[in-house]
Amino acid sequence: MKHVVVSLMERKKDDPMIPHIRGLHHVTAFAGPPQTNNRFFTETLGLRRVKTTVNFDNPEVYHLYYGDAEGTPGTVITHFPAHHWKTGVRGAGEVAVTAFSVPKGSLDWWQSRVGGEVTSTFNDPRLLFPGPDGETLAVVEADDPRRGWITLPEDVAIRGFHSVALKVRDPLPTIELLSAMGYRELGVEGRTTRMIMDGPAGVIDVIGAAEEIHADSGAGSVHHIAFATPDDATQAEVRDAVVEMGLKPTEVRDRTYFHSIYFREPGGVLFEVATCDIGFDVDEAPTALGEHLKLPDQHAHLRPRLLQTLDPLPDLDLAG
Ligand code: ZN
Repeated sequence: MKHVVVSLMERKKDDPMIPHIRGLHHVTAFAGPPQTNNRFFTETLGLRRVKTTVNFDNPEVYHLYYGDAEGTPGTVITHFPAHHWKTGVRGAGEVAVTAFSVPKGSLDWWQSRVGGEVTSTFNDPRLLFPGPDGETLAVVEADDPRRGWITLPEDVAIRGFHSVALKVRDPLPTIELLSAMGYRELGVEGRTTRMIMDGPAGVIDVIGAAEEIHADSGAGSVHHIAFATPDDATQAEVRDAVVEMGLKPTEVRDRTYFHSIYFREPGGVLFEVATCDIGFDVDEAPTALGEHLKLPDQHAHLRPRLLQTLDPLPDLDLAG
């Protein structure tokens, strides 16, 4: 990664080597039983299930998307929930904390709802609490102009992502990559370096954990984090720049609701860069998001079997 540092020095601060990154787009994790997953993210956390589909790369398994009213980039946590995953083993090379932004003064309300422990990171009060598969989630008090979904009162509702924390054995290459993507260092607190960019969902914490074992993926593990980029043209520029840095992005994949490329960052976390110009209303009315099992063309023939094998969910028409 040495050439990255040199290249960065030659560029202006507002001209990142990897251009057009706009904070987080979505976060995707493995999860346990679908009904448990759906109940926790829609009822307890009050998010809207904005899309019900299957994992395009493993179509026997649901892919459930939860976010704000429209599934705006920067608000969407997605899961591959299934009964058969083993539980993930926490460690380095993965996302350690997924944090949502909530209104100031709401942490007591959240603590009485989900338990957990109130701490403070970089002067932001936050509540750490376990998700349904033992993963570490958080709500962070922030001034956030985004609107929450209607399930919970507006003065407590989740606004979208605040941040994710990446735990890696050697933080420097990860920090360099994020710098190349347009993040700047806010500061260091203990073993955590906070990287930020303007706009919502613009915070990434990098935790150095040289002594930790490598994480083993399973239920509760984040599979990847996706960064937002406006459209196909900007994504192509991102991809070229990622190649130029010696990383190995995939070809563009059509995820119906966005187009994606993937590459692994030096610390071991899988990064995706996803476009923002398609959205979840491409195949469902905005008033009915998530209420039909949507299958991409290549998996449409699987519907009769999926009707038998997928667990029923509330407000879902499996027949499409
Ligand atoms: Zn993704």
